[in-house]
Amino acid sequence: MLFQRNADVKARKKRKHLFCIIRFSKAHECSACGKGGVRAFAGGLGKLCNFAKRKCCSPFFAGWRIRGCAKTNSIMDRRSFIKATGTALAAAAVGVPANAEMRGAFPGTMRREKAGGGLKLSFFPYELKLRHAFNLAKFSRTTTPDVQVVLEYDGVKGYGEASMPPYLGESVDSVTKFLGSLDLGQFKDPFRIDDILGYVDSVAPKNSAAKASVDIALHDLLGKLMGQPWYKIWGLSPEKAPCTSFTIGIDKPDVVRQKVEEARPYKILKVKMGLDNDRETVEIIRSMTDVPICVDVNQGWNDREQALRMIDWLAEKNCLFVEQPMPKERFDDMVWLKSRSSLPLIADEAFQRIGDITRLAEAYDGINIKLMKSTGLHEAYKMVVLARALGMKVMLGCMTETSCAVSAAAQLAPLVDFADLDGNLLIANDRFDGMKIVDGKVTLADKPGIGVTLIKK
Ligand code: MG
Repeated sequence: MLFQRNADVKARKKRKHLFCIIRFSKAHECSACGKGGVRAFAGGLGKLCNFAKRKCCSPFFAGWRIRGCAKTNSIMDRRSFIKATGTALAAAAVGVPANAEMRGAFPGTMRREKAGGGLKLSFFPYELKLRHAFNLAKFSRTTTPDVQVVLEYDGVKGYGEASMPPYLGESVDSVTKFLGSLDLGQFKDPFRIDDILGYVDSVAPKNSAAKASVDIALHDLLGKLMGQPWYKIWGLSPEKAPCTSFTIGIDKPDVVRQKVEEARPYKILKVKMGLDNDRETVEIIRSMTDVPICVDVNQGWNDREQALRMIDWLAEKNCLFVEQPMPKERFDDMVWLKSRSSLPLIADEAFQRIGDITRLAEAYDGINIKLMKSTGLHEAYKMVVLARALGMKVMLGCMTETSCAVSAAAQLAPLVDFADLDGNLLIANDRFDGMKIVDGKVTLADKPGIGVTLIKK
């Protein structure tokens, strides 16, 4: 595919050709070396890539000496061009916008860093509005405070968020204060994940949701720079992602029936418990569907003997596991319960950071990883590895949050036993399009980064 004139570029741009090769000509001779320079059009979305405008001996083309010269008027053949621009085209093929996003698709060779440029962090509060009031054993609410985050490097944006259900102890004030205290501009190379997130973690203790927002945005940014989604970067098979559960909150019988009806597409139901009507709720669900259930007590059972009786009863109701049956402080009671329980017991409120796992293995059969507790994907991945080494089950959960954080968590889904990734479905004002649930199963998009597109500014 050849062309000679700018008019041809426009013509091909209109036809949305991914690329074409420009013939050398004297007009494109480099003023410094005298050789002809290649000009390439590689804009998957119809934009001219910056390197298309450069001459052969510019710093950007260092090492890119082109076969032929102005005198012979030879051209770079298609195979050489594809080889040289392979990564860029791969990025274009997965939908990375050309221009700024493609510039970063050449780590180590063609990625440019602006002089003095570093990571730029911006953020703003964004209240999440819930579709239904969310009733748990210890409280009820209709909104969730949230802070949306953008991390920018060389014109490429990564998105993140901090979602703060009240029991985590974080707030819009604490998150914005923490984010405002960060100096990410000191990092000139965004690929130094360990250094960057190690610094973020060291600034202050706790603040796990605030730290997660930076981690998620950084992963989104880096995935875009590499032109790949994180499940691919980690080498995971998306078809191994489990079905997600759909949450049925604590509510009146007619509302429970309505929610079970809404949840028909889902293969597992997560039932919130911890009040006097626990058995009644399960009986209602069982009168409507045979799909497996899992139970989240949110620390609501205080008597271990009674908890054991409920677990035995649930085991006969096609229940897969019980999450956080007793208060997180009741470690010895949990050890007692675990040794007698007929169902796996999963730690949620009792579990936050990776340092908790070894001790919890004595009292629980598994852990519920949530990015807002784990400080993001970087530590969450390590949590999965450690839990597996200890023979524990792994569940992947979320808060009520937009598709941004849910899609980030979903990148890990092929590694886990159970997924509870319905947080984005519970809110009415999602800003992103991302991970989808298809036939009840977590379905990952082949989009770079955490796999989201901003739909609402
Ligand atoms: Mg839970």
